[in-house]
Amino acid sequence: MIIDLHCHTNMSDGALTPNQLLDLASERGVAMLSITDHDTLDAYAHTSSVPPGMRLIPGIELSSRWRKQGVHIVGLNIDLSNPVMASAVAEQSAIRLQRAQEISVRLERLGFDGCLEGAQRFAHNQIGRPHFAQHLIAVGAVKNSNEAFKKYLGAGKAGDIKEHWPDIETVVQWIKQAGGIAVLAHPSKYKMTRTKLTELIGDFKNAGGEAMEVVSGLQIPSLTRDLAKLCTQFSLLASCGSDFHSPDKKWAALGLISNLPETCKPIWDRWS
Ligand code: AMP
Ligand code: MN
Ligand code: MN
Ligand code: MN
Repeated sequence: MIIDLHCHTNMSDGALTPNQLLDLASERGVAMLSITDHDTLDAYAHTSSVPPGMRLIPGIELSSRWRKQGVHIVGLNIDLSNPVMASAVAEQSAIRLQRAQEISVRLERLGFDGCLEGAQRFAHNQIGRPHFAQHLIAVGAVKNSNEAFKKYLGAGKAGDIKEHWPDIETVVQWIKQAGGIAVLAHPSKYKMTRTKLTELIGDFKNAGGEAMEVVSGLQIPSLTRDLAKLCTQFSLLASCGSDFHSPDKKWAALGLISNLPETCKPIWDRWS
């Protein structure tokens, strides 16, 4: 059974509309899917019907901050009509807008004018750094989004603003109050030492976090084994997802996910 519990639509920084995403997931034979856009639930208001044979788990990927570093927390099986989550999303959206203005000012100092308006042309809904990357590509400042992040938007660069995000405790509590399970997203993407990652997982667990992504897309078996070990060590549930954004990113293809190791306790046991 193909299970993909992390992907994006054009309601945040994905390329497909929510319905196009559902169609692609159906084509790929995904039996359980969660759309987890960055800090928005809008995709769920834009899907007409769930394809037959597919279970759609309401989800979101919330931005947070841990020790001055940006960390993503996925909320799964949340109540879409929960008022706490509604106000959380409103707060996060306001932060994104303010942050986008600040990114634009910083890029202007580097000689790039009109970046906010430029990025907004690519953002259908929730704005993020990938939309700035698209703008920088469009004006010929960089060749691709990798270069845009490397030079201007990635960790430590001018456009990397994460000071405004709430701490992990706040975000985990939002998810719990909305009836969901908090999942530490893609732990290997933070490029932390193992010691630091262990501290993050410990803090996340103490904050009420209940699961972590043991598998993010197609990943090497040694990484899967390592994350599975950490997952078991902290008695967390295991989740998996592609972190799909766009069909042209072959390394994060919808529904193409390595298997969870047998030793893991899958998160979906909690709702099936
Ligand atoms: P934001 O949500 O505005 O902080 O932007 C983060 C998003 O940017 C991530 O969810 C990825 O989709 C994308 N991203 C992060 N790093 C890179 C990179 N090096 N190259 C391309 N896209 C990236
Ligand atoms: Mn993204
Ligand atoms: Mn993420
Ligand atoms: Mn994601």
